[in-house]
Amino acid sequence: MNFIRILLLLVVGISVGKTTIAQSENEIYSLLTQLRVAQHDTTKMDIYLSLADSYIGEDVDKALNNANLAVILSSNLKDEHRLLLAYEQMMRIYFEIKYDLPKSLEYLEKAKAIDTTATTVQDRANLLGYEGRIFLAVNDFENAQEAFFEQLQTYRKLNDRAGVAQVNYHLGTLWYERRDYEQALLHYSNALTTYVELHDAEGRIHTLNKLGQTYGALRDYDHSLQFSLEALSLAQQLSDDFLQTSINANLGTAYLNLGNLGNALKYYRVALEYGEELENERLIAQIANKLGDTYHGLCNEPKAAQYYKRALDLAEDIDNKNVRKEVYQSLYEYHDEYSRHDMAYLYLKKLTQIKEELYNEERTRQFINNQIRYQTATKEEENKRLKANELENKVIISNQRIQNYVLVFFIFIVLLATYFLYNAFKQKKEYNKVLKEEVKKQTLSLEKSNQELLTSNQQLEQSNNELERFAYIASHDLKSPLRNIISFLNLIQRKMRKYDDEDLKEYLRFATDSAKQMNQLIADVLEFSRIQNAESEKQSVDLNESLILVMKNVQDMMEEKQATVETQALPVIEGNSVHILQLFQNLIANGIKYNKNPNPQVSIQHRSEKDHYLFSIADNGIGIEPEFHDKIFQMFKRLHTGEEYSGTGIGLAICKKIIQNLNGKIWLESTPGQGTTFYFTIPNGQTP
Ligand code: ADP
Repeated sequence: MNFIRILLLLVVGISVGKTTIAQSENEIYSLLTQLRVAQHDTTKMDIYLSLADSYIGEDVDKALNNANLAVILSSNLKDEHRLLLAYEQMMRIYFEIKYDLPKSLEYLEKAKAIDTTATTVQDRANLLGYEGRIFLAVNDFENAQEAFFEQLQTYRKLNDRAGVAQVNYHLGTLWYERRDYEQALLHYSNALTTYVELHDAEGRIHTLNKLGQTYGALRDYDHSLQFSLEALSLAQQLSDDFLQTSINANLGTAYLNLGNLGNALKYYRVALEYGEELENERLIAQIANKLGDTYHGLCNEPKAAQYYKRALDLAEDIDNKNVRKEVYQSLYEYHDEYSRHDMAYLYLKKLTQIKEELYNEERTRQFINNQIRYQTATKEEENKRLKANELENKVIISNQRIQNYVLVFFIFIVLLATYFLYNAFKQKKEYNKVLKEEVKKQTLSLEKSNQELLTSNQQLEQSNNELERFAYIASHDLKSPLRNIISFLNLIQRKMRKYDDEDLKEYLRFATDSAKQMNQLIADVLEFSRIQNAESEKQSVDLNESLILVMKNVQDMMEEKQATVETQALPVIEGNSVHILQLFQNLIANGIKYNKNPNPQVSIQHRSEKDHYLFSIADNGIGIEPEFHDKIFQMFKRLHTGEEYSGTGIGLAICKKIIQNLNGKIWLESTPGQGTTFYFTIPNGQTP
């Protein structure tokens, strides 16, 4: 059984294509030519890797040398991807060609230490394959299985069918090594189906060989023969000594167990030839031992002894307990059968001892495995915890980051708002400043115009006063000479009575009338001026009493014109009684005078408003055209000749002056031909 295991070790990793020697030589020549002209380091690294691959079947040392150059160059250039490929090449050479497990493990560790982010998923899957196979080679089934399963998952994700088939092949070997042959058959069969579908001849041959080997282990030698023979028939196309050795040895074993010692001898001999070709001492020892068994079965003592000796010498020479165990087992059985008890006992003792050693080794290995598994589990637990912490920290950090973002955003908004507010404030301030200046300017100009108005008012008042004083003085002073003129004119008139000169008498009459008219005018002016000067003399005036006096004064006029005056109870006001009398008399008299109605009517009304009394004196007289409503209040302004209506045109001017002195207003409304209403207001002493 161990013989098969060793064979397995030899072929377990062989899944890459083997080319013929001629092809390799051509390839190497072409690669060396390319290397001479290569300018870029990446190109050089790729060529070194290809050279290492091509040299594998030719010259192992050269293969190693080139792989090593690729390692140095890629690690110098920190090209992790190519460094991984170079380590894999080193691993492959040490593991598959030189069977140097420590070295293989060393490169496996180096390859695994490369940062995974720098490598592709495919690269990592390949590495897992090496890992599984190396663990398998050291009988660490658990780790090997773990690596293979991970590799299988990766290939499935990548939808890499050839990769999946390859992992199935290795898993088959793993189950074979664990002596679960049913499982091994299952995986090998899966691999075979895929290889056939993919037309992968090499994979198919290797798998057929494995199936033959597995059926052999199950003691189903018919099936073993069937698969091994199929493998053998196809293996001719491959120049692979390992494969040939394995197939022939498997066939030998099948025939040996089926009792066909002739065929067993035949295939074992071929297997031995390939083994010798390979110069593989372990292999030679195992096949020699089997040849010893076969010759022993054929009762060819000398030949059996010869092969057993060769096997024993080699087995004790090489450091492989399994091979030794196998040889001791055969020798014990061989000597025991011929009742050579001493020798039989000797090999039995050796066998027991080596079995014990192997058992101990197995236990130690299992113990170490368990220990490693425990440490790994603890580490994984710790890693998980750290990862969870990291995740938690990340969440906290990300929360903090979000908080920070929100804070920064908030600050930004506040700053923005502050900026806008500040700007608005600044603008408002500037606007206020402009406004203030404008107001100041306007105030100044208003003050200035007020001042000007005040000055011009004062000037106007002064000129009015001067004018009024002048009018008073003039009229007063004119009165006396005019009175003299009238007196002398009267004297002249009296003297002229005795003369009969009618023309002269007429002239004198004119002169006297004009002088009288002039006298009346002067009297009016004087009257007006007096009102002006008497403005401050105010007392309570009962208007009902004033009206009684007025009615007396206009009685003749009323009778003459058949006029009526209507009134109501009137209030008591503050003013000058003489002026109030004049005011009412002028307005009532005008209402009767300027009236062509056969029944002239004058109506006096009043009503109390907020701070004043509103009076109205309405007549049904001739009325006044609108354009004269303002003009008639001017001094001496008349609308009719003396012939039409007598008068001097001073009455309304006096009325206006009296009302102004009382701080009131006077105006009129009129419809020509229908009548006129004069309105005036007199303050009632209430503040508004
Ligand atoms: P006088 O009566 O001495 O002419 P007034 O100052 O009283 O002077 O009146 C000025 C003018 O106004 C009058 O000449 C007259 O033409 C007009 N007037 C005054 N009162 C009335 C009135 N009630 N109806 C029509 N016209 C009037």
